[in-house]
Amino acid sequence: MEQTLSIIKPDAVAKNVIGKIIDRFESNGLRIAAMKKIKLTKEDAAKFYEVHKERPFFNDLCEYMSSGPVVIMVLEGENAVAKNRELMGATDPKEAKPGTIRADFAESIEANAVHGSDSLENAKKEIAFFFAGREIL
Ligand code: UDP
Repeated sequence: MEQTLSIIKPDAVAKNVIGKIIDRFESNGLRIAAMKKIKLTKEDAAKFYEVHKERPFFNDLCEYMSSGPVVIMVLEGENAVAKNRELMGATDPKEAKPGTIRADFAESIEANAVHGSDSLENAKKEIAFFFAGREIL
């Protein structure tokens, strides 16, 4: 069993497709171990995406991630990290395989509907960034 962090980003929350996205996870063997809807501050977003701070898109990304509410989840299941990445599809929705969350719901390479941890090590860090142990069931 693995746990991974998933974020339904502001574009998808604004589109009212939270339930449709969660259905992709539940229908593919992932269960929600923790969930909350919050609005990040720009500082929260900057801390969360710190690894990208030198990238040209960093400032826009932090503005976008704090532009509206997000839904943050801990997903649990066998190979949860890789399974979530597979369900999400490529970063750029134009390159995402048909039937993936980003192919179906993303707007652009920036407003791309979902975040998912890219390794087990990062999943642990990202989960600890957003959730206290007692919130993960
Ligand atoms: N991003 C962007 N422009 C780019 C690449 C990435 O705005 O050229 C944003 C996008 O929202 C992406 C996030 O930065 O999801 C993190 O990028 P990463 O390469 O880690 O992609 P991911 O792991 O989310 O697929």
